[in-house]
Amino acid sequence: MPIAPEKYLFVPGPVKMSPDILALGAVQPPYFRNQAFSEILRTCERHLLTLAHAPEGSRVIFLTASGTAAMEASVINLLTTQEQSIVINGGSFGQRFVDICHLHQRPIYNVKVNATNLANTDSLETFKEATALLINAHETSIGLLYDLKAIGAFCKKYKLLNIVDAISLFVTDEIDMQAQAIDALILSSHKGLALPPGLAMVILSPKALQKVKSGQSYYFDFQSHLDDGLRGQTPFTPAITIILQLHLRLSQIMARGIQAEQHQVKVIADYFRAAITPLPLKPYSPYMPNAMTALTPLDAIKASDIVAFLDSQHNVIVAPNGGDLKEKLFRVAHMGDMTEAYTDILINALFDFYQVQR
Ligand SMILES: *Cc1c(COP(=O)(O)O)cnc(C)c1O
Repeated sequence: MPIAPEKYLFVPGPVKMSPDILALGAVQPPYFRNQAFSEILRTCERHLLTLAHAPEGSRVIFLTASGTAAMEASVINLLTTQEQSIVINGGSFGQRFVDICHLHQRPIYNVKVNATNLANTDSLETFKEATALLINAHETSIGLLYDLKAIGAFCKKYKLLNIVDAISLFVTDEIDMQAQAIDALILSSHKGLALPPGLAMVILSPKALQKVKSGQSYYFDFQSHLDDGLRGQTPFTPAITIILQLHLRLSQIMARGIQAEQHQVKVIADYFRAAITPLPLKPYSPYMPNAMTALTPLDAIKASDIVAFLDSQHNVIVAPNGGDLKEKLFRVAHMGDMTEAYTDILINALFDFYQVQR
C-alpha cells in the first residue's frame, strides 16, 4: 500500500531513482566486516577517484550522514582556528558554510556574491592571504553554477586549499579535480548520484590529506576513516545498502562514461528550457547548471502559487524558495533517472497552470 499518491519529482533531492537501484534497496543488508564488503567499498573509492579525475594519491572518505555533515566535517578536519578562509556566499548553501565556520570558530572572509559566476576572480584578490577557499560548485538555492576553473586557477595561484561542495552537480555537470584544482570535493548520495539520502563522501587530494587534523570530532574524524579505509572499511557501521547502490550506480556510470551521463542531463535540461519558452517564465540567471533550471514568473504571478498548483493538480513537485525569493523563484531539478516523457508531465502541468490563469 503506497503511503502517498505517486508524485513526480523535480526537486534537488531526493530525485527519481532507476528501477535497478530501487530494487537493491529492498535487499537484506549483508554483514560488512568482511572481505566481500571491503572489496565493494574499495571499488567505490576507485571509481569515485576516476570519475572526479582526482590527482594521484587522493583518497575518499565515506560518511553515514547527509551532505551537510560532510561540509561540517571538512571544515573541522581541514581548517584550523588560526587560519583564515574565504567563503563564497551566494545563497543559503554558501551561508551554511559561513554558519559552520562561525560555530567552530574557523576565521573566514564572508564574501557575499550576487548574480556572478566568478569567471572573473578580481574581486577575490583582496582576500588572497587566506589559506583556504570554500565554495558550493552549484549554489542550489538559486541554481547558479560557478566557474570552477577560474576559482581553481585563483586557488592555485595563491596556494589556497580549494574546498568544493559539489553535492548538487556531481555526475550532472563537469567536475575535474585536476583541471579545476580542487583539493577537497564534497559529495552526497541523493542528488546528482540519484541514490537514497544518507551517504556523504569527501574526496581528498594529497594536499588536503596533508592538512587533515585528527581529534576534532569522534564520529567525523577523517584520520580514522582514512586509516580504516585502507582495508576497505569504515570506523562505524556504514549505510550498507546505499553503498551497495553506489557500487552499482558507479559501475554503470563507468561503463557508460561520465560525459554520456552529463550529456543526457543536458539534453533533458535543454529540452525543458526550450519547451517552456512560450510561457512568461524568466531564467533566474544565465549561469544555470545542467542539474537545475531556476525560474522567475513574470506578470505578477507568484512562484508559490505555481508550486502549489503543480502539486495539488498534477502531483508534480518542484522546489519552492523561502524568504525574499518565495514569490520570485521556483526551481526545477533535472537530476536522476529522467526522460523527456517524464519531463513532459511537468511541462504539461506548467502549460495547464497558465491556461487556467486566462
Ligand atoms: C543539498 C545540498 C547540501 C546538503 O544538504 P543536506 O540536506 O545535508 O543533504 C549541501 N550543499 C548543497 C549545495 C546542496 O545542494
